[in-house]
Amino acid sequence: MFCPECGISDKEMIGNICIDCFLKDYHFLEIPENIKITVCKHCNAKYYKGNWIDEDIPEEEIIYRALEDNIHIDDMIENEIIDLNIMQMRGTIGECRVDGIGNFKGRELREHYNTNVQIKHATCPTCSKRASGYYEVVIQLRADERELTNDEKEKVNEIIYNVLNKQFKKDKLAYLHEKAILKEGIDYYIGSYKSGKKVLNSLKNQFGGISKESPRLISEDKSTGKRLYRIWISLRLPKYKIGDIVKFQDKIGQILQINQDKTLAADIKKHQNFSISWAKYEEVEMIEKKEDIQKTSVISKSPTNLEILNPEDYSAYDMNMKEEYENFNIGDEIKVIKINEEFFPLIEQ
Ligand SMILES: [Zn+2]
Ligand SMILES: [Zn+2]
Repeated sequence: MFCPECGISDKEMIGNICIDCFLKDYHFLEIPENIKITVCKHCNAKYYKGNWIDEDIPEEEIIYRALEDNIHIDDMIENEIIDLNIMQMRGTIGECRVDGIGNFKGRELREHYNTNVQIKHATCPTCSKRASGYYEVVIQLRADERELTNDEKEKVNEIIYNVLNKQFKKDKLAYLHEKAILKEGIDYYIGSYKSGKKVLNSLKNQFGGISKESPRLISEDKSTGKRLYRIWISLRLPKYKIGDIVKFQDKIGQILQINQDKTLAADIKKHQNFSISWAKYEEVEMIEKKEDIQKTSVISKSPTNLEILNPEDYSAYDMNMKEEYENFNIGDEIKVIKINEEFFPLIEQ
């Protein structure tokens, strides 16, 4: 076999020409002179193969990845080493150099290229949704038979801020679009349903209460039949707070704990705790707010009797001694609840 191009006959052949003639026109690296990439100017998401990928990666890293994605290495090359360098940034254009070394049938080949990576700024769909006031869920916070307290409002703000901040790392629609303060409560407009539910769960974990979801159809794409819903979630906080006195079935109790599963109360007659599930919430009746509970003092104490001052007419009021009253001392200020003309001291827990 001889090479039809140079006439040599003792060289290794690649196809029908010798290796030297083949290598004259051979490049093992292919890389475009100009590479354009699109990056969201608000959140730094990169448009990649039809998707916006949310990686808060630095600009340099975006450029290196763009180079990697655009370099093609020929299959006949072995043990290649590709070195990428950003020589300088000119505005949004990174001037780059690519150096490659590779092994072609025992010969070491070296190639060098200059290429520009241009970063085009755009707004990703998530950021444009946000800018246009998009929201998927409204949490309507209300308190049952009372107004929201300032403490509750502050705590709610804190919870919403913390949950959305945490969620934002993986959900760019985790934002509070609007907070509407109404006479009956506060409405929170939240970008994504998923993050709205996380907020709701954290609020219920803190305050308990009863929630109800009502989806409303806001638009329908006639051609695809795809329906877009917006969800209204009402969260009604209980009428009672920790320390309040309530009646539940045949028991009178002081509220000890409230969470998403139940309310825990201390029975003031039997000195035992009992719980109230949210399903039974409607059966709870308010007796006395914590701040309205009457105070009085212990006048005398004996192994069989405890005598207190009747807070209504300041006469002496006698009770049978109980184990629970043993820590009361003469002169102590205590809290009492009056049920059916009878006084019951509260035991601090
Ligand atoms: Zn040849
Ligand atoms: Zn964006």
